[in-house]
Amino acid sequence: MPGTTLPQLTPSALRPLPLATLRPRGWLLERLRLQADGMAGHLDEFWPDIARSGWIGGDAEGWERGPYWLDGITGIAYLLDDERLKAKVRRWVDHILDHQHPDGWFGPRSGEATYADHDVWPRIIVLKALLQHFEVTGDERVIPASLRFLWLLNGLLDEWPLQEWARSRWTDIVWVINQLHDLTGEKWLLPLAAKCKAQGFDWFGYAADLPFRGKVDEATLLAMRDQHDGNWMNDVYLSSHGVNVAMGLKAMPVWWRHDAHDQQSALLQLIDALDQHHGQPSGLFSCDEHLAGLHPSQGTETCTVVEHIASLGVALESWGCVEPVADRLERLAFNALPASTSPDEWAHQYVQQANQVICHVTEDRVYTNNGPDANVFGLEPHFGCCTANRHQGWPRFTTHLWMDSGDGALTALSYAPCSFSYDGLSVDVSTAYPFEDDVTITVRGSGVVPLNLRIPAWSAGATVDGETVAAGTVHQVRRDWSGGPHVVRLRLPAPIKSVSRPANAITLERGPLVFSLAVPEQWTKIGGEEPHATYEVHPTGPWNYAIAPDDIRLDRQTVTEHPFTKAPLRLQVKGRLVPDWALEHGAAAAPPPSPVTTTGAFEDLTFVPYGCTSLRVTEVPWTR
Ligand SMILES: [Zn+2]
Repeated sequence: MPGTTLPQLTPSALRPLPLATLRPRGWLLERLRLQADGMAGHLDEFWPDIARSGWIGGDAEGWERGPYWLDGITGIAYLLDDERLKAKVRRWVDHILDHQHPDGWFGPRSGEATYADHDVWPRIIVLKALLQHFEVTGDERVIPASLRFLWLLNGLLDEWPLQEWARSRWTDIVWVINQLHDLTGEKWLLPLAAKCKAQGFDWFGYAADLPFRGKVDEATLLAMRDQHDGNWMNDVYLSSHGVNVAMGLKAMPVWWRHDAHDQQSALLQLIDALDQHHGQPSGLFSCDEHLAGLHPSQGTETCTVVEHIASLGVALESWGCVEPVADRLERLAFNALPASTSPDEWAHQYVQQANQVICHVTEDRVYTNNGPDANVFGLEPHFGCCTANRHQGWPRFTTHLWMDSGDGALTALSYAPCSFSYDGLSVDVSTAYPFEDDVTITVRGSGVVPLNLRIPAWSAGATVDGETVAAGTVHQVRRDWSGGPHVVRLRLPAPIKSVSRPANAITLERGPLVFSLAVPEQWTKIGGEEPHATYEVHPTGPWNYAIAPDDIRLDRQTVTEHPFTKAPLRLQVKGRLVPDWALEHGAAAAPPPSPVTTTGAFEDLTFVPYGCTSLRVTEVPWTR
């Protein structure tokens, strides 16, 4: 973004290129097009909570769903330069700005003295959408309207302090305030940010000592609620809620800009603790929808997937290429994100599981407090938040591929296919990464603009133009780009790794891709209307195998424009049936401890990238 940064706010290490500067290509373009042609691009035409949203004068929900949808679709519309979607964004932005209340408040309100009528949370999502719209269009209404709202908020918080979701999600309020401060330099924004932090939940103390170290079941939640003040939205409830935790990860990088002591290690400590107590092989933590422990059949809510991606993106903005953060962001984007939806992007799950061997409506279930239909694919299984929110994931990933380092250099954090012109340079990234190891970067321009290339920690033997570079570093290519085109060839080979999981089970990985046993599946329609009907997915063959981890062969196939539909990489593995490993509470029981003793004949099994599967076994026992 253009603008000046005052010394009171530490500058971000990296800034995303202005929205729509970078254009997705190849498989990434097709993925965003699927979203545009699928549910995200049509939700406002038929789903009452968007079509008749209170935010555009309708009689339906006027809280977070309309803003969620607007935030995600704004990114997609401008990244694709799609006239149909841009018209939808304009209609919503115009309505919201034209109906801003004289005191600065946005959106519907009843005029009653209730917290609901003073709830800042959905309005912050609207500001996130408006700022994206401003980046592309320069719409002169956005900044004054945003500042009017925040000025009102500054006084309002003294009378109506942050509560409920807003108390937990103050991190997004400060993120928005930081952006507006970068744009305007308004000094009063900084004490407003401090007020939000002071009224918000203490994610710093939480990171120092994670209070939830096992599955938070419903009985525990109820008991904790009764021990407290009887308010369902107490801190125990809010801070064990997965989406809030994912958004809470943003606390350290957004507050670091106000107080630049070592917040980075606090974030890494929280990520480690979540891995240790709730970690899943895809890089997620379990939450269905409260933190749910290490069992690979516990679910993770789709809102958590996309908010986790968003928070890690903010951490990269503040601190630059911190390898564990960049790696985690890729793992979520290349595994958990595509797995959360049907191949045509019309249906999604409320929760996904690492060992997801059946997706069905079941009263006997494993979740902390999600409903019987939480893992079926549909328009709004369990609850409609993910329906409205999930499509922000791909645009947030896309806007964090390449960033401006502020010192004249450009930094690549991930290598999906894309192209952009920025700062006198034209860059084209041609690759099918992460499904192939080669990345070709073609540069046209004049003069020296350094390119900082992230070399992932898993890529031992990586080369840039044939010369070996160290894994887990940022390699700078410094060249005069005059008289081009010039080509930079990056090679990121990845070994197949067997990673140990709890109970001594293993997960197979290659680079940022996690692999799962592809379970043969049948989709059965159980309700709703096409194209957004609801489906159960049942296995049509066994899934309960133990594998021989020393006998794995990689098969490469042509990478199509839809690599998450037709798996381009496959691992051929030998495995034996484990007859005693069966369903328990409607999901795969915990993997039996390895090594498993089983006598069946070895069979040929195929593992494919997690994001290519609907039914899968990712955390798998092994046998000799
Ligand atoms: Zn959700």
